[in-house]
Amino acid sequence: MSGRDDAAFRTKGEEQTVKAGVCAQEKETAHAWERNIRRVTPYVPGEQPVGDRLVKLNTNENPYPPAPGVRAALAAMDTADLRKYPDPTASRLVNALAGYYGLSPEQVFVGVGSDDVLAMAFLTFFNSEKPLLFPDVTYSFYPVWAELFGIPYETCPLDEDFAIDPRNYDRSNGGVIFPNPNAPTGRLMPLVQVEDILRHNQDVVVVVDEAYIDFGGESALPLLKRYENLLIVRTFSKSRAMAGMRIGYAFGAPKLIRAMQDIKYSYNSYTMNLPSILAGEAALKDEAYFKETVGKIVATRERAKKRLAGLGFTFPDSMANFLFLRHKTVRADELYKALRARQIYVRYFTGPRLKDYLRVTVGTDEEMELLYCFLEEYLGAPV
Ligand code: PMP
Repeated sequence: MSGRDDAAFRTKGEEQTVKAGVCAQEKETAHAWERNIRRVTPYVPGEQPVGDRLVKLNTNENPYPPAPGVRAALAAMDTADLRKYPDPTASRLVNALAGYYGLSPEQVFVGVGSDDVLAMAFLTFFNSEKPLLFPDVTYSFYPVWAELFGIPYETCPLDEDFAIDPRNYDRSNGGVIFPNPNAPTGRLMPLVQVEDILRHNQDVVVVVDEAYIDFGGESALPLLKRYENLLIVRTFSKSRAMAGMRIGYAFGAPKLIRAMQDIKYSYNSYTMNLPSILAGEAALKDEAYFKETVGKIVATRERAKKRLAGLGFTFPDSMANFLFLRHKTVRADELYKALRARQIYVRYFTGPRLKDYLRVTVGTDEEMELLYCFLEEYLGAPV
């Protein structure tokens, strides 16, 4: 078990013991320069185990390959061009995205995965002494960026069914961010409620993280016309099956996009490398393939809901490419370990509202069948 993953298993008490041990060690060896090190508790990404026979349902990757045109675009790329810096504006990709979504290029920002885009949005827009607001159960990178950039923040509790209550965001704040569908719950907020939050927060930037929107959600895209303070962040990692390429993007009013570009160019101008610009552009050209693969994932997800409910799991009604599962009788950490021992990887998060759940990515039907088979055997449920 890797050190990282081991950390996911520690209880709060154990965590404190570990931290205390590390501090004691550090005191013994501390040099003056160490006091100037910026200390952060990093985001812990899901592990990337290696092997042919494992079933990887832990990081919400797409189980299908990217569109065939991506391979062709990379094969056609002249490697001699890697000699040069890439286009800092990534204009081919920006124009392709603008064309695809019916926007102007001035409304589009691109970055190295949506993590990069989100980090830039945090740096650019959340610069107030008032707290940034986001749900208590959400993408666990948000508090990490807030801590890193010294942004004050407060979390708003989801209700017991993991729904966001827009009324929690009706107070003085320095910005708002939430994913829709939310992660790791998969719950979708209806567009009227997204607009409700925007309507009550017109003095701050509201970021809607739509990493999973293509799997059945209604996008906030039409609201861009009415709200200049709306930023929508998206990714090629999930619905376009290109997590390894690292492409993220954002849509917003030109004023917002220009502000993000100023921050980006003050940090690293050449974030988008040539292969990702070309591959991203190519992926957008194959609408039939996109619809087909997303459709397959949605169909598998809906079948999974029925099978898993039959096996004694409860879960919010996910509109993403993952399910957030709780078993009626078996503990999530126990199940996580048992699955792992069978080379079936899912994600387990500690934390008071998360520890009873497993987040399971929707894989291919064959992968899901292996999961159900194991669960039927382990839980002793009828086939
Ligand atoms: N937002 C949410 C809600 C996510 O779950 C993820 C995936 N970890 C991301 C953003 C980042 O994805 P990427 O950087 O691969 O675009």
